Amino acid sequence: MNGIVIAIDGPSGSGKSTVSRAVAQQLKLQYLDTGAMYRAFAWWVLDQGQDPENAEKVGELADHFPLRMVCDPKAPAVVVNNQDITQAIRQPEVTMAASTVSAYPKVRHTLIALQRKYIEVGKKNRGIVAEGRDITSVVAPQAPVRILLTASAAARLARRSKQTGERDQAVLKRTVVTRDQQDARTTSFMEPGEGVHLLDSTALTLEAVIAKVISWVEEETQQ
Ligand code: C5P
Repeated sequence: MNGIVIAIDGPSGSGKSTVSRAVAQQLKLQYLDTGAMYRAFAWWVLDQGQDPENAEKVGELADHFPLRMVCDPKAPAVVVNNQDITQAIRQPEVTMAASTVSAYPKVRHTLIALQRKYIEVGKKNRGIVAEGRDITSVVAPQAPVRILLTASAAARLARRSKQTGERDQAVLKRTVVTRDQQDARTTSFMEPGEGVHLLDSTALTLEAVIAKVISWVEEETQQ
């Protein structure tokens, strides 16, 4: 029997990663953070001394991207060329470069193919929770459980501030609201597609959000 695929998307600060990791841990599934893959690629572009704005050169780099994702929800890791860059990809310049390079069709094409491979591996085991902006619509539209996790802009800014320690509202807005606007040009993650559960976490605790996701998984697996 194939393992389950749970796909979760939504804007920055909606809690996608925290919720996905927690659900994967509770259900003993693998965990894939697709945003981390775009970040890892952006880190690599910068590490190679390339300009993220140079679409052609960046596209060429995508052909030889030596990425390995560790899909253990207890200790997910991102490895490029045998170097653990799990922390490095959270730097602000990598965040902004990720948004730039993820808009290039060549880069999306390569990373989506890689994401599907990891999802296939997860399916051969107990299953996988995969999260990222276009997971429910493009990467895994056939996933049995698909969820769009949202929250008000104010809640998302407050969460990102707590998570990163950033207090400057202008910086927070740039990494949350502006980045979402930029990303929305290439991926659709603000409106749920057909068959996608909408979950607004603005007024919910983390535990309540996790419980809701697990209830949808149970509904699906008991059918
Ligand atoms: O989710 P996270 O903030 O880590 O994603 C980093 C960037 O990767 C996003 O700003 C977006 O540009 C890109 N991304 C994407 N498609 C995904 C996940 C992330 O384009 N499925």
